[in-house]
Amino acid sequence: MNARDLPSAAPWTADVLTLFPEMFPGPLAHSLAGRALEDGLWRLNAVDIRSFARDKHRVVDDAPFGGGPGMVMRPDVVDEALASVVSARDDQVPVVFLSPRGTPLTQARIHALAEGPGAVMLCGRFEGIDERVVEAWSMEEISLGDFVLSGGEPAAIALIDACVRLLPGVMGGLGSSEEESFEGGLLEYPHYTRPRTWRDREVPEVLISGHHEKVRAWRLDQAERITRERRPDLWTRYAAQGSGMKR
Ligand code: SAH
Repeated sequence: MNARDLPSAAPWTADVLTLFPEMFPGPLAHSLAGRALEDGLWRLNAVDIRSFARDKHRVVDDAPFGGGPGMVMRPDVVDEALASVVSARDDQVPVVFLSPRGTPLTQARIHALAEGPGAVMLCGRFEGIDERVVEAWSMEEISLGDFVLSGGEPAAIALIDACVRLLPGVMGGLGSSEEESFEGGLLEYPHYTRPRTWRDREVPEVLISGHHEKVRAWRLDQAERITRERRPDLWTRYAAQGSGMKR
């Protein structure tokens, strides 16, 4: 599918505020996301926060009040950068601050973001960003997980990638994403392809049977087993939904 085949609304647009705009599109220029970007199914705008610094040395950070290690990104510079990006848009776009203190990102949040107009994403560097500008913009703080990156850029790339693959036309013939990990509250079942025997390991017999109902039941069984073993947190939620909600 191509942008020309879609309704004329503006495509899903990612604005990324970063001190390293040259990191974009980076991995997003390749494969599914890259092709969709070329086809105009989504747009990417990487904005250099440093270009909003006022002084001649283009300083964007300063020492933390109260002392301690590292530097903190200044609220006035970040605010100017955000204002320029948000005022250039004619929609109600969520402003996201990628942060290890944020709500851990989930597939449910990705779906909601993919259904909206896009996202404005703020990538921190150094120790982080002055709290006042985070509050003033009521930013949604999103974390990629319980670990610390050196900057928000890889998190923004991950968020964009996960959204873009859900946009209409992007996955094309690759099939629905409905059976994938998390979509039904379960991790995905295991996959197999040719050869049928590899290093004395056989493909499970049921998958060769041609019996669609048995294949479906086996896959559900495997997905449940893997989820139970690996992610008790997901399993508890899934089990609580009751069988009527499954898949
Ligand atoms: N001092 C901070 C870490 C700063 S890391 C703390 O202890 O919480 C620098 C930047 O990397 C952050 O401002 C944030 O934008 C980004 N970052 C680090 N870990 C992240 C994570 N798990 N998810 C999203 N962004 C992250």
